[in-house]
Amino acid sequence: MGIERTTASSDGPAPVRPSPDKLTTFFWEGANQGRLMIQRCDDCGTYIHWPRPVCKRCLSFSLTPTQVSGRGSVYTYTVAVQAFHPWFESRVPYLLAVIELEEQTNLKLVSHLVECDEQDAAIGMPVEVVFERVDDELTLPMFRPRRAETARASGGVR
Ligand code: ZN
Repeated sequence: MGIERTTASSDGPAPVRPSPDKLTTFFWEGANQGRLMIQRCDDCGTYIHWPRPVCKRCLSFSLTPTQVSGRGSVYTYTVAVQAFHPWFESRVPYLLAVIELEEQTNLKLVSHLVECDEQDAAIGMPVEVVFERVDDELTLPMFRPRRAETARASGGVR
C-alpha cells in the first residue's frame, strides 16, 4: 500500500539509520510496507507522536499503532543547505518540514518536503506522504505537495 519513490543509489554513502526499539518498531515496519502508522490511545482516541508508553491526555497504557491517511499540511519548514552527514551531500539544499497530519490538530511529525521547489513551498500547503525506499530494510516517510487529482482520491495506491 502507499506511494513509493525510489531515489536511492547503491553506490552512494549510507544514511544515518534509525534504531527502532520496542516503542518505535511499528513506525518503521509500517513505512517499509508503505503505511504511515501513528500511535493512538484506545481509551480516548488521541493520536500520539512520537510514540510513548502512556497516553499524554488520559494516561492510559492502552495504545495501538494505527494507520493514518498520510494527508496533512505544512506547519513550518526550512531550507537545509548544510550536509551534516555524507548521505545529504547530494541532497542539499533540501526542505525540512514539520507536517501537521489531518487526523488531529497539533499532530505533527518532522520529515522532508520532496517534489517541491523551494519557491513553491508554503506554510499551510496540503501535502501527502510518499515513501522513499532507501534499501531493503529502510524506508523513509516523506511528504510532497498534494495534487488536485490525488486530493480527490481516498488515499489509494498509485
Ligand atoms: Zn488517552
